[in-house]
Amino acid sequence: MDFFETLSLRCPGLTIQKNIRLDKYTTLRVGGPADYFAEPAGEGELIQLLKAAKDAGVPVLLMGNGSNLLVRDGGFRGLAVRLCKAFSRIEPWEGGLSAQAGALLSALSRAAADAKLTGLEFAQGIPGTVGGGVYMNAGAYGGELGAIIDSVRVLDGDTVQTLSPAEMAFGYRFSRAMRDGLLVLGARFRLQKGDGEAIEAAMRDFASRRKEKQPLEYPSAGSFFKRPAGHFAGALIEQAGLKGCQVGGAQVSEKHAGFLINRGGASASDFLQLMALVQDKVENLSGVRLEPEVRIVGDDKL
Ligand SMILES: Cc1cc2nc3c(=O)[nH]c(=O)nc-3n(C[C@H](O)[C@H](O)[C@H](O)COP(=O)(O)OP(=O)(O)OC[C@H]3O[C@@H](n4cnc5c(N)ncnc54)[C@H](O)[C@@H]3O)c2cc1C
Repeated sequence: MDFFETLSLRCPGLTIQKNIRLDKYTTLRVGGPADYFAEPAGEGELIQLLKAAKDAGVPVLLMGNGSNLLVRDGGFRGLAVRLCKAFSRIEPWEGGLSAQAGALLSALSRAAADAKLTGLEFAQGIPGTVGGGVYMNAGAYGGELGAIIDSVRVLDGDTVQTLSPAEMAFGYRFSRAMRDGLLVLGARFRLQKGDGEAIEAAMRDFASRRKEKQPLEYPSAGSFFKRPAGHFAGALIEQAGLKGCQVGGAQVSEKHAGFLINRGGASASDFLQLMALVQDKVENLSGVRLEPEVRIVGDDKL
């Protein structure tokens, strides 16, 4: 019995697709096919699915909104599991809001503003999910998720655990979920009562700053590189004369050199070559080796 048949037996009712291209599930719009692709309808189904994959020795790629993922052109030899609408519940608790992993950060930020709760304004324009955001410790404009988290529900192997922020070991674009391969099921955010108009004004300000500074009209994964200590990646790239530099359909944005954008028809290989070119030139000029913030997964060839 092959893995597809095993999955169909162990997870009846769940649609498992074969050979699904991942480009349409990433904001860079690149990436080859996953052997198997599923969007479980709830935690029970998710746990069953992961157990079946583990028993069969099939690797799993967890996906949220794909806004920090570069999937190579050969795709992913294994099972891609996307957490989205079925995991998007947001609800109040006495200290703020709690959200499931598939909830969009924009929806969470909006829910906080509607409840006149302050703390999540910075997350308004981050196009990821709570799961991807907690895993990455996403942040912007001086805020980051790790700083406002009360607890995180994770799946560690077969066990569901609730971890404190200290146990999550948040760092700059880093968390224990990244280090130990934990699956984030949801999180509770500690928020304060605030002034509704001030919250809305801060969100409008962040949105207009993004629109003014970021190439939102093109597919991208946001800032492609991590901020190196003592520097800004975009400034180093600009100083190396790389604004507008292009490999195939992948380009260093003219508007914000920290963004690598898809000008149309780019492949993952275009992005990887452009990334290497940027890393080498910046290092030659400044001595700083830029590290990708984007998570690079999959195979170069089918
Ligand atoms: C235009 C634009 C602007 C951006 N601005 C910002 C910004 O201001 N600040 C910032 O920090 N980022 C920014 N990003 C990057 C991105 O939105 C964040 O990193 C976001 O948190 C990723 O969430 P996601 O759901 O899209 O994760 P994905 O891209 O789907 O996945 C990212 C990583 O998280 C893992 N993952 C996903 N879900 C889970 C889960 N439930 N449990 C465990 N692991 C999981 C994946 O396996 C992968 O390794 C931007 C991106 C774009 C396109």
